[in-house]
Amino acid sequence: MNLSKSRYCRGIQCPKMLWLEKYKPDVMEESDNSSVLEQGNVVHEVARYLFGEHINIEYTDNLNEMIKDTYRTIESYEDIIITEASFNYEKNFCSVDILKKNKDNYEIYEVKSSTGVHDVYINDASYQYYVLTSLGLNVTKCSIITINSSYERVGNIELDKLFTINDITNEVKSLQPKVKENIKKINTYMDSDIERNEAIDDHCYNPYLCPFFSYCTRNLPHPNVFDITKTPGVTAMKLYKQGYITFEDLLKAKIGKKYRERIEYDLYDKPDHIDKLSIKEFLDTFSYPLYFLDFETYQMPIPLYDYVHPYEQVPFQYSLHYYEKENGELLHTEYLGIPGTDPRRALAEQLVKEIPLNVCTLAYNMSFEKGVIKRLATIYPDLSEHLMNIHNHIKDLEDPFSKRYYYTKDMAGSSSIKKVLPALFPDDPSLDYHNLDLIHNGAEAMNSFAKMATMSKEELEYTRERLLRYCELDTYAMVKIYKKLKHEILK
Ligand code: SF4
Repeated sequence: MNLSKSRYCRGIQCPKMLWLEKYKPDVMEESDNSSVLEQGNVVHEVARYLFGEHINIEYTDNLNEMIKDTYRTIESYEDIIITEASFNYEKNFCSVDILKKNKDNYEIYEVKSSTGVHDVYINDASYQYYVLTSLGLNVTKCSIITINSSYERVGNIELDKLFTINDITNEVKSLQPKVKENIKKINTYMDSDIERNEAIDDHCYNPYLCPFFSYCTRNLPHPNVFDITKTPGVTAMKLYKQGYITFEDLLKAKIGKKYRERIEYDLYDKPDHIDKLSIKEFLDTFSYPLYFLDFETYQMPIPLYDYVHPYEQVPFQYSLHYYEKENGELLHTEYLGIPGTDPRRALAEQLVKEIPLNVCTLAYNMSFEKGVIKRLATIYPDLSEHLMNIHNHIKDLEDPFSKRYYYTKDMAGSSSIKKVLPALFPDDPSLDYHNLDLIHNGAEAMNSFAKMATMSKEELEYTRERLLRYCELDTYAMVKIYKKLKHEILK
């Protein structure tokens, strides 16, 4: 069987992507999307019950078995809901997430863990419609099931409120002539084992960043326009298509001040920029006791607890360093939730005990910490006043870097702590996240916490300790940055 839903969609994005997958799989960039896939699976599992009882066609490597099972089920019932109903038409295979069989017609429902309907989903459903109607099935409706981000769980999950059914029948029908054409084009492309050139264009990142981007841009000079942003996107691609490739080229282009600055630092090896006056003015707004706060959060498409929206940032951990007085001892405290329970109430209670009223608290990229605290204040009215007092006294330690009071070449145009820290302390192994064990970033922290509920006691203790050390480093890094800023203005 040549095509599947996902291969068809990738083939539309760029046929070379499929070609490279087949003929040069070794040049694909690795990316860890296991947690996205896991979350997607959970959403599919839950969405299956949207229409009540159903029959699931069990997955097996033998796709013919799945197809036979599907037809057996279809023939046995007049009206039935089938999940993973599988079909094949001229080597075009598809499994329909939810197929509703009515007496004389069928409805296709494609489940997505996203909160909106994107073009790629419509292409996906159009391919399924093509396969089923080509086999003679009377499909009268096609829909995309998405997550309703405004849903707030209270009590049991209400599936009809958690999910939104988006009818895309008309779009799918109007795309049918294109589907046939696309399948033909993809198959012709794949038949040849000779590698073709494909233009680097918007399709390289839209709808998804292509895992062969490094391979296809390997012959460009380095550094190049795609190094000015974290991932290739609209800005870099627009410049590339205008012919601005190298950093020298980019200096002739119309680009933002921050991009220009970054390029000039790189090209001319410019010395560090330290605006002592602005840094001093910023530091003068601080007062003691002084707190350094960082949260870890997780996001789930299906809310696990009451008063949680899909994909809401749910805090499960924090680290807090603090000085009670200037030049005093650096103290530390922390909170980590109990896996498998709602961590928020205990976290909020401990936070208001540990951060007194009217004190200066620092966060790095404070909109995140402020957003988490504000939400806790909404959920727990009895703690709201204190929480909002903390919220209103937070200052952003990222400001000197985002406002370019302090800038060095090694920050590479970014003010994120993951860039600023190694730029300020290149030789300090205690501040290097790579030297941590098991957990090195927020995504790993989130995934580890989610898995802790099912771990053995030993594994749990080990992971708990690694989580604590990771989050502690986040606030310790802030302390070091603060001290570095103080040191610079005294020089
Ligand atoms: S990087 Fe761009 S051109 Fe190369 S395979 Fe991917 S989408 Fe196609």
